[in-house]
Amino acid sequence: YVKDKGKNGFQIFNSDMNHDFYRKMVLEKELRQAIERDELSLHYQPQLNLESGRVVGMEALVRWDSQELGRVSPGEFIPLAEETGLILPVGEWILRRACRQNKEWIDQGYEPLRVAVNISQMQFMNPKFSDLVLQVLEETGLPAEYLELEITENIAMTDEQRVISVLSKLTKNGVKVAIDDFGKGYSSLGYLNKYSVDYLKIDKTFIQDLPYHPDNIAIVKSIISVAEHLEIELIAEGIENEKELQFVRELGCQYAQGYYIGHPTPANNFEENVLGKIGQFRINGIT
Ligand code: C2E
Ligand code: MG
Ligand code: MG
Ligand code: MG
Repeated sequence: YVKDKGKNGFQIFNSDMNHDFYRKMVLEKELRQAIERDELSLHYQPQLNLESGRVVGMEALVRWDSQELGRVSPGEFIPLAEETGLILPVGEWILRRACRQNKEWIDQGYEPLRVAVNISQMQFMNPKFSDLVLQVLEETGLPAEYLELEITENIAMTDEQRVISVLSKLTKNGVKVAIDDFGKGYSSLGYLNKYSVDYLKIDKTFIQDLPYHPDNIAIVKSIISVAEHLEIELIAEGIENEKELQFVRELGCQYAQGYYIGHPTPANNFEENVLGKIGQFRINGIT
């Protein structure tokens, strides 16, 4: 690596930057081949209705097992995929796989669940996005009501007219929309009543230590009152124990997701342990 200081006396690279730079280069090179090498897969995490105690949905979460690099977390490669534009083919693969899998499960006779798919900003802003979604639904035969798209607040905050038209086209066709990581962005709430949004997912940082954390209690309560007012349903994410579950349930939150209910798990395991036991699936603390 470049050890010498530049002639103006500033050190341009240090070994950390160098390391990050090469890591990114290698990641990008490997990610370009990940689809054709069949290195991507989806894990599914259950979402629980807090009134009935039943699983009503699942979030699809991408996993990358690179033959060169081993398991790379989506927290690392999704931002890179966005920077490089690779999110378009990768995101399309994820959407298609999630819809196809969900349709297969419905066809096998399991109780139909909604599958939530994370959509990154660059995907959403692509002019062909809404057509792609409708095309994938048609191609896979999944009824639109069993697809939910998770977008983040930063998407919701850009180019309002465009977001309104994309969201209304999709929701008119029956697709559900959730705002992910709600409360984490520093957005105004004004956009919420302009957009067709079905769910808000309360960011997991506000769920942590809930019964004991006064700031988080205040934040969660205010999110709940906004959602009630706008008639948007709430999903609490990152539920890790019974206390957190009970707390959000008592406050009036309709749905919950988190390790306490179930970890994200590969399709075959989800099928066996969640779908296959859906009537018996019980969580301590409800029903
Ligand atoms: P997210 O969409 O907010 O997903 C929730 C993350 O929280 C997941 O991490 C999940 O495994 C984790 N999680 C679930 N329950 C708990 C819990 O009880 N406690 C804690 N501490 N964490 C929990 P994961 O799978 O590593 O994904 C991280 C982020 O990467 C996602 O956040 C999402 O922004 C992005 N991502 C993951 N899959 C996809 C994808 O298919 N497409 C896109 N565009 N982004 C994705
Ligand atoms: Mg999500
Ligand atoms: Mg997210
Ligand atoms: Mg989230």
